[in-house]
Amino acid sequence: DNARANDQLTQWDHDHFFHPSTHLGQFARREMGNRIIQKADGVRITDREGKTSLDAFAGLYCVNVGYGRTEIADAIAEQAHELAYYHSYVGHGTEASITLSRMIAERAPEGLNHVYYGLSGSDANETNIKLVWYYNNILGRPEKKKIISRWRGYHGSGLMTGSLTGLHLFHQKFDLPLSQVIHTEAPYYYRRDDLSMSEDQFTAHCAAELEALIEREGADTIAAFIGEPVLGTGGIVPPPAGYWDAIQKVLKKHDILLIADEVVTGFGRLGTMMGSDHYGLKPDLITIAKGLTSAYAPLSGSIVSDRMWEVLERGTDENGPIGHGWTYSAHPIGAAAGVANLKLLDSMNLVSNAGEVGAYLNKAMTEAIGGHAHVGEVRGEGMLCAVELVKDRDDRVYFDASEKVGARVVAAMLDRGIIARAMPQGDIIGFAPPFSLTREEADEIVAATKAAVEEVL
Ligand code: PLP
Repeated sequence: DNARANDQLTQWDHDHFFHPSTHLGQFARREMGNRIIQKADGVRITDREGKTSLDAFAGLYCVNVGYGRTEIADAIAEQAHELAYYHSYVGHGTEASITLSRMIAERAPEGLNHVYYGLSGSDANETNIKLVWYYNNILGRPEKKKIISRWRGYHGSGLMTGSLTGLHLFHQKFDLPLSQVIHTEAPYYYRRDDLSMSEDQFTAHCAAELEALIEREGADTIAAFIGEPVLGTGGIVPPPAGYWDAIQKVLKKHDILLIADEVVTGFGRLGTMMGSDHYGLKPDLITIAKGLTSAYAPLSGSIVSDRMWEVLERGTDENGPIGHGWTYSAHPIGAAAGVANLKLLDSMNLVSNAGEVGAYLNKAMTEAIGGHAHVGEVRGEGMLCAVELVKDRDDRVYFDASEKVGARVVAAMLDRGIIARAMPQGDIIGFAPPFSLTREEADEIVAATKAAVEEVL
């Protein structure tokens, strides 16, 4: 019966389900399979065929507290029974949305105290760009509107946020990026053009490139710079030493706002509550999503600094209510999940565990395969780790994309019961497990990676 039900679901899946980030032709022709996930507990997920895998990417680096946490499930159920929905327009709220706002402000860096809620990282970044534009209009500088992002940055898949994203795959055939967005150098030391540069020299080079771009365009046309503390989807790339200090100095000099996109790093992934704490960022806006609820319900947020807030308030005094709102802003079920999730992070001590076991995972991965002839680099920070595969280690030559090396290694890992992610550009195997990972589970991930790399390469 189960087999028949699975066949039926698979048929409907191929006929009707438009999957995101999927090769539609291959899926329709069944050249690639589907996988129907049924249940999960801790760090492991189980599909409808009964196969269990250790999820070393926490979904899409979002199930930070791990699966099956009854505290969050119960909070969601209680909220749904008591009040499934009310809107948050014109001063309405719920106990959950107000409490969560307080909890976020307590966990955000100093001077960031106001939270606007959305549903996804993408829409939170759309909100951020609108707030930046609104801010500059209220300040009487309507020309100051362009946004600088980095190549390899990932900020979402909307019109503006897909433009901010610095990955070709997300632009091609969509007529992106929009004209208000410009990109600057990725802080990707391993892939620097000039291999003779030291890390410090490369940091200075990134800052100089940014400054040259600002001067070319004119600082009075540039509103904000957006960046992830650690590049995520672009390849899990921690910045070179001193990078954020150098970048912030340039931004300050030219009166350009900083948006820290903490969708991945927010709420513990780097072993600190926020990625901004880890690198000494002083942002004007912070984007949060995934880790806010550990994906138990969709919820995102834009944390607004007091400095911006003052201008936004003045703007509404002059122009009336702010014309920006989603039906589901601060959805009570999302907010209840967020409150329970942040409590669980504290009570299970998960932020420090992410730092400690993450460091262990990175060290063990480096020791196990750092010396392999086709491993160019093992890198990471906190509970983030990446293995970059290369055809030629000395010259850092990429494999031909048609060889699909990253995807093949990930498939070989899945055969061994471990889910890793082939990052979308380059043959980079990414790891971002739940923060509850143990050292024994980290060892499982490393052993499977080593075996898979050795099998494929
Ligand atoms: N920003 C960053 C840094 C992300 O990693 C992501 C998603 O992976 C987003 C924004 C977009 O979030 P969402 O997929 O929820 O729209």
